[in-house]
Amino acid sequence: MKRLPPWTKKSIGPLTRLHEVKSILRRRNLHTVCESARCPNIGECFTKPTATFMILGDVCTRRCGFCSVDKGARPLQVDPDEPANIALASRELCLRHVVITSVTRDDLSDGGAGQFALTIKAVKDNISGILVEVLTPDFKGDMEALDTVLDARPDIFNHNLETVPSLYPKVRPEAVYERSLKVLREAKRPGIVVKSGIMVGLGETFEEVKALLKDLKSAGCDAVTIGQYLRPTRNSLEVDEYIEPERG
Ligand code: SF4
Repeated sequence: MKRLPPWTKKSIGPLTRLHEVKSILRRRNLHTVCESARCPNIGECFTKPTATFMILGDVCTRRCGFCSVDKGARPLQVDPDEPANIALASRELCLRHVVITSVTRDDLSDGGAGQFALTIKAVKDNISGILVEVLTPDFKGDMEALDTVLDARPDIFNHNLETVPSLYPKVRPEAVYERSLKVLREAKRPGIVVKSGIMVGLGETFEEVKALLKDLKSAGCDAVTIGQYLRPTRNSLEVDEYIEPERG
């Protein structure tokens, strides 16, 4: 196994804030992607006025090789109190920017789009001026589901391509590169920022990354995040390479 370079290590931040955030989440029966995906930046993020809530449970119907979220054919029941609880927790935590994401729920007829819409609305109705970002699955390319989310008017719509197309069978076996691009293209609406993200260090080439960025530009994507892949568990895909932030 490759050693972690020093630039991948982040400070854990003040422990009191970390405990405060965790206790509010437990009390309101909420999940954050920071905890469920074992993100190494959790300490840093929990000290900022932003949080990423994971709705629709913490069991995913897909099995991406890079992701440590629990997988299974029988995810949790949709919690009708979840939208209100997220709004209340956001208020208690004095958040200014909320990210709402979910596991992929291929078992639900709308892929969970309705719950996204209700959560966006609950947060916006309860906290004036808050920035709401959604990071959604591909809804299996169902454009009606996508409309449901966009009609609730998130400020930022994010759907991650995650990696270059040649690595999809290994990294996102149930996803389709062109389908994800279509979701981004169709999400383009006045007043909504469209965003995507990828990980590097999984074996992609520089040329492939350049081609992907061109695809995102043609799809009308406004912002892209590029992050180093870090292996979350021993069962996850291995890191192919650590790429210095200065490169590229
Ligand atoms: S679809 Fe999302 S939550 Fe599910 S395994 Fe893939 S990355 Fe993880």
